[in-house]
Amino acid sequence: MAGMLYLVPTPIGNLSDISIRCRETLEQADFIAAEDTRVSLKLLNHLGIKKSLVSYFEHNKAQKGEQIVARILAGETCALVSDAGSPAISDPGEDLVKQCAEAGITVCAIPGPCAAITALSISGQATGRFCFEGFLSTAKRSRREHLEQLKSEQRTMIFYEAPHKLLNTLEDMAATFGADRPISLCRELTKLHEEVLRTTLGGAIALYASQPPKGEFVLVVAGAEPQAEEAASPTDAANRVAQLMAEGLSRKDAIKQTAQELKLPKNVVYDAALEIE
Ligand code: SAM
Repeated sequence: MAGMLYLVPTPIGNLSDISIRCRETLEQADFIAAEDTRVSLKLLNHLGIKKSLVSYFEHNKAQKGEQIVARILAGETCALVSDAGSPAISDPGEDLVKQCAEAGITVCAIPGPCAAITALSISGQATGRFCFEGFLSTAKRSRREHLEQLKSEQRTMIFYEAPHKLLNTLEDMAATFGADRPISLCRELTKLHEEVLRTTLGGAIALYASQPPKGEFVLVVAGAEPQAEEAASPTDAANRVAQLMAEGLSRKDAIKQTAQELKLPKNVVYDAALEIE
């Protein structure tokens, strides 16, 4: 019988955030696939768990993925961990899940720490509708293109960013979204120096231009304000009146219906209709 793949989230700063279920899964797995075995060994030592570790990361994932799938198909159970947070979310694992699913292997994701969701919930931004944008490209052009695509995005947007690239990213965001766009910079979440700075893109740039950013950041950017519907023009009104009259409506009824449809005052529609008569 085939084994299973478990996705095991690990703390993003506070070791007490490891859940009982994650701990049990790590204990019971036949082997653990880890992004960086040295990082995961520290966690396992902290938990008092001794287990065989294999590395699975960006540059060996094609070859290691096949080996892991073969071991699971042979009956072993694998627990996948990344350096911190939820595997497969801006971390290795996405491809392994796909490979396992294609091989008919059951994949079980254990809920737990994820920097994006932790940041969103503490951000103070609207949480009803949001999109996760991960890391922006390091190449200026594709970073700008990515942001350009989000220019009229109305949902709250979540980004991961490294501190040394933060200022450039904020400047690119301000150039695209405007300096007055609200942003929450969620730093060092669950750690001793956890901080949430709720400001604007312009405010964040002013701060970090004078004080180099340190630590890990999630950026939660407010979505664009909905654009006011463009008001219908008198020509639109006159054309609609003419169309309705051609369909058999009286002038009075055509003006009334046009005013309702185009949300214009009746006298404006009346004058517009007179103009083209
Ligand atoms: N898979 C992980 C997760 O679910 O949280 C994310 C991994 S991604 C490679 C690492 C990025 O997550 C960091 O560059 C930072 O943007 C964010 N991050 C991770 N831990 C964080 C923390 N404690 N505080 C703020 N951001 C954090």
